[in-house]
Amino acid sequence: QHTKVNAKTNYLKDFERKPKLLPHSWVVVRIDGKGFHKFSERHNFSKPNDNRSIELMNKAALEVMQKFPDIVLSYGQSDEYSFVIDRYSKMMDRRGNKIMSNIVSLFAATYVYNWHNVFGNTTLEYSPAFDARVVLYPNNSCLCDYLSWRQADCHINNMYNTCFWMLVQVGNKSRKEAEERLRGTFAKDKRAILLSDFGLDYDVEDAMYRKGTVMFRQNPRGIGAASSQLAASKLEHLSGNSQGNISSKATSIEKEEGHCITVVTEHTDMIGDQFWTQRPWILG
Ligand code: ATP
Ligand code: ATP
Ligand code: MG
Ligand code: MG
Ligand code: MG
Ligand code: MG
Repeated sequence: QHTKVNAKTNYLKDFERKPKLLPHSWVVVRIDGKGFHKFSERHNFSKPNDNRSIELMNKAALEVMQKFPDIVLSYGQSDEYSFVIDRYSKMMDRRGNKIMSNIVSLFAATYVYNWHNVFGNTTLEYSPAFDARVVLYPNNSCLCDYLSWRQADCHINNMYNTCFWMLVQVGNKSRKEAEERLRGTFAKDKRAILLSDFGLDYDVEDAMYRKGTVMFRQNPRGIGAASSQLAASKLEHLSGNSQGNISSKATSIEKEEGHCITVVTEHTDMIGDQFWTQRPWILG
């Protein structure tokens, strides 16, 4: 009976495409809350930055990093998070659809799972959704530019939002008036408004708001807790390399087997070289 059905329906498998992500490229999965402008108003988020939602986003990202050890770094701001997967990862056979859908569904589920721990009595009025995309970056320079771009976006939006909500909440302006006041202004103008009208030095605002949240694995990286496939593919890659220091690096990867991976959370600048030169193990 079973075999008969299988024989008849086997061809259906051929309709399934299983595209694989280009080898040796960095894989970035970015998720973003769907309609969070409305979601934040409906749940009375404090503006411009509600700490509870940031905490939920960060908890969800940490869970994703713990479940998927090939993620080397995550960056979050507002309702978005980017997950960077090691360029030599063979996670889920590099099937982009699987990787992306696993990450985004675990993220959304964890955001909801922790809702009442963080928001207390504030009822979750409806299920939030997140979109996801997967993007390949072929070298370190593009990857660093990508992360700088997201962090610059955080900076620009946060400066605007900080000014906007100061004008509304403290300056008693209508939303329309605040918008008009800020139209066409540059960063330096916004700093000036904050300082002269509200006595606020933008640089002393919480770094979590200004810079977003970066999570990465502590040095030495616990390759052992990552899939052994990853370590193996690294060795493969290294032994294909003509440089002289290969064996020492390969050995150190093997030695790291079994180490646990501690995820570090920071609110630091990834714009510029310093972040990367101080933490060379992240890009490997
Ligand atoms: P889309 O579905 O296209 O992403 P969106 O409404 O989610 O639409 P975004 O550009 O993603 O638009 O912006 C997210 C919005 O969510 C922010 O503009 C802000 O209003 C709100 N938001 C997200 N996180 C917070 C937070 N921690 N505190 C306050 N507001 C937040
Ligand atoms: P993968 O991550 O590869 O999908 P999996 O463990 O989810 O692994 P599936 O082939 O998807 O494997 O099978 C789902 C399994 O979940 C079923 O074999 C069954 O054991 C269990 N399951 C799912 N739904 C039910 C249900 N309603 N009642 C009992 N068991 C269920
Ligand atoms: Mg969007
Ligand atoms: Mg959104
Ligand atoms: Mg967004
Ligand atoms: Mg299953």
